[in-house]
Amino acid sequence: MNMNDHIDTQCLQASDAAHHLHPFADYSQKHQQISRVIVKGEDIYVWDSEGRRLLDGMAGLWCMNVGYGRKRIADAVHAQMTRLAYYNTFFHTTHPPAVELAAKLVEISPPQFNHVFFAGSGSEGNDTVVRLVRHYWAKQGHPERKIIISRHNAYHGSTMAGASLGGWPSMHQQGDLPLAGIVHIGQPSYLEGGRGKTPEQFGLEAASWLEHKILELGADKVAAFIGEPVQGAGGVIVPPPTYWPEIQRICGKYGVLLVADEVVTGFGRLGHWFGSTYFGIQPDLITFAKGVSSGYVPLGGVLVGDRIAHALMAKGGEFNHGFTYSGHPIGCVAALENIRIIEEENLVAQVRDDTGPYLKQRFEALAQHPLVGDAGAVGFLGGLNLVRHKGATVHDNVPFDRALEVGMLCRAHMFGSGVIVRTIPGDRLLISPPLTMTRAQIDEMIALITTGLDKTLAELK
Ligand code: PLP
Repeated sequence: MNMNDHIDTQCLQASDAAHHLHPFADYSQKHQQISRVIVKGEDIYVWDSEGRRLLDGMAGLWCMNVGYGRKRIADAVHAQMTRLAYYNTFFHTTHPPAVELAAKLVEISPPQFNHVFFAGSGSEGNDTVVRLVRHYWAKQGHPERKIIISRHNAYHGSTMAGASLGGWPSMHQQGDLPLAGIVHIGQPSYLEGGRGKTPEQFGLEAASWLEHKILELGADKVAAFIGEPVQGAGGVIVPPPTYWPEIQRICGKYGVLLVADEVVTGFGRLGHWFGSTYFGIQPDLITFAKGVSSGYVPLGGVLVGDRIAHALMAKGGEFNHGFTYSGHPIGCVAALENIRIIEEENLVAQVRDDTGPYLKQRFEALAQHPLVGDAGAVGFLGGLNLVRHKGATVHDNVPFDRALEVGMLCRAHMFGSGVIVRTIPGDRLLISPPLTMTRAQIDEMIALITTGLDKTLAELK
């Protein structure tokens, strides 16, 4: 089968079903689905093998920040591949793309960051966090400070440490996770726990769960707290404004390291280079991936704050950790070109001051649809809940019976209407579109989503 020739969709689908085990796909007979074949991307659109154009409201998998079809990234990759396709960065060896990218990341990151550790993905980045945090405390003479506190419903990747830091029971059940020394507290979901409280009160309450957990475990045992500024795959859970500053205060009080997983929220998604800036916090470590290269080439890593970097350098000794593809030159040149595009097109400020507020206004107005219980957006992230009945407050909305799988039905209607969204259990629908989206394209996306909602409502009647 030559992929450049005419595309035989059925042939591809049959071969895919026969040989390809997909990530996060249900292999049971009941759910065995024929895969949709995506063959082309341009700007904010992708095309399937039947020639249907789909507006990509998920930027691939939360990653295509500059959109599809950027020839200049391809050209940079091609030039680097012919010059030096690969060399490693182990044992004090380096190459120009890794040097240049590390300096660029330091330039755009908050001031406490002057060092970068490269990995191949967000999961590898979070594995690096676990090892780095424990290594740091051992070097400080406190090897007993090992425990990392994370949150229920968080997503931090699929490696053993990533899935352990994550808070999904469905992942923990497979493979005896979490690993020892990783514990979880509740997520700051106002919808879940805020009944009868203001968002500000609830934010402080949710942050206090961290302090309770630290006191329960003993501060001398706790190494770090990790959280996504906005929980992404868990459902675009936007914490109340009081949450993160209080988390920062608590970490400071007990000397606990603060880690922000910015795999989703980094590189402009919240209208700042990093979501930590949006929430006014100063983490010690930031995990990054996805938007760093807009997914053109796999790349991830960790921004290492001065508190940790200086301590490691002062104490000396080897950090016995690294990946063959740490600082891969192809990933680095793709990231450099991607960041240049974000800068030249002013995408961060555009999301902060113009298209972000406009997306918020248009997306949140979807709450007027009879099927939508509530809708919220921040930057270029949004989430809404499909409900059977709307109540007097968001806490009184009546959900659908889970067995009806209304979210999946709605997602299918969205595809039918020409827009890709994500749905998660609980009939919650998410968006995370490319940052290049114009106001006119936001209007187009909202119109397509509305058509999908209308079709879902019609089918439910
Ligand atoms: N952290 C967060 C917040 C993520 O959303 C993801 C992936 O979706 C990861 C980590 C894992 O990244 P990767 O899939 O590149 O390993």
